[in-house]
Amino acid sequence: MARVSEDFMKLQSGYLFPEVARRIRAWQEKNPGEKVMKLSIGNTTEALPRYIADEMKRKIDLLLDRNTYTGYGDEQGDTPLREALSKHYYDEYGVTLSPSAFFVSDGAKSDAANIQSIFSRDSIPAIQNPAYPVYVDSNVAGGHTGSYDEENDGYSGIVYMRADASNGFVAEPPKEHADLIYLCFPNNPTGATATKDQLKAFVDYAHRENAVIIFDSAYSDYIETPSIPHSIYEIEGAEDCAIEIGSFSKNAGFTGVRLGWTIVPETLKAEGAEDGTVHRLWNRRQCTFFNGASNISQAGGIAALSKTGRRECMQLVEYYKENARIIYKGMKELGFECYGGIDSPYIWTGCPSGMTSWDFFDYLLDKAHVAVTPGSGFGSAGEGFVRISAYGHREDVLAAVQSIKERLG
Ligand code: PLP
Repeated sequence: MARVSEDFMKLQSGYLFPEVARRIRAWQEKNPGEKVMKLSIGNTTEALPRYIADEMKRKIDLLLDRNTYTGYGDEQGDTPLREALSKHYYDEYGVTLSPSAFFVSDGAKSDAANIQSIFSRDSIPAIQNPAYPVYVDSNVAGGHTGSYDEENDGYSGIVYMRADASNGFVAEPPKEHADLIYLCFPNNPTGATATKDQLKAFVDYAHRENAVIIFDSAYSDYIETPSIPHSIYEIEGAEDCAIEIGSFSKNAGFTGVRLGWTIVPETLKAEGAEDGTVHRLWNRRQCTFFNGASNISQAGGIAALSKTGRRECMQLVEYYKENARIIYKGMKELGFECYGGIDSPYIWTGCPSGMTSWDFFDYLLDKAHVAVTPGSGFGSAGEGFVRISAYGHREDVLAAVQSIKERLG
């Protein structure tokens, strides 16, 4: 008889976004005709940049002709895109990585979820609390943890690295041993960024503990503060202890188009394995379970990394960053404790005293008709905060901030 995976069965129900949607629906039923202004999700809203879209159209024209048609490509991604990514890292971050270190994918989420599968089951994950939920859930489903422990509000076997106001939402490396260290900067949900020294502490930890860092840089283009690193490879020694995951979703507007990449340097070390083994295993994993990213998306990716494409991406990023500034300023003026929102599209906002994340969610929905995301949904340390997202049309963001000011001010 087929039995279901005990590891998948350990997963707690995907409570956060379905519950947000359920409460919005319930509120709308009670308040027919009233519009809810949503600053709750991390989904892009603005049109694709023109040049990037035109290059994808051009690729479709090539596919319409049997003489230029192409089917399956390399599982690792098209060589020109891998070369363009390598050049991008060199030109913009001064980092040297060979094109063969880049594995093109259908987005950062699947890579962030799948990367644990090439490490031994007894690898101990260390994850910031709060965090993008994929890191915790993929480690649970991949059998790297114990069960959910209600009392501790977390899974046994995970080293939770608490990120709160006292450490500027950047945890220090843990005191205890861990094998897979998940980091995400600029951070979802807190909007925090890490300095070179803070990242160096993790690189030093990884060297000391024979650990591997998994660095999610999905929001790197939102960084404007010059001293903040965009890539973990800006830290010396990271190329033998860190994997980096990137995305075209939040800079080129590819949330629906789908395209990302993962960097696994040939020099990456893992305990008890020859150098190059992690690279070889990720290649093996991708060749076995993945048939390559869409060739239309990859044409878009190459365009996004060209001079014109980069300009377009940064204009798009600037649009969302202006939204972030509007939200940050509006919430600050009302006296709320606010973090993030500068090198990031997320504003991590403290709840009024005595309110939980869900209380404040309900309050904002009911009073201002604005939906946000309760911080506790990203981990127990997110309690007492909500995440406000800058992804939205400018007019909707302005209306939402105005409504909060009028009805809460
Ligand atoms: N990583 C982080 C931290 C995210 O917040 C998101 C999406 O919101 C992703 C990855 C997903 O990126 P992609 O659309 O490339 O799968």
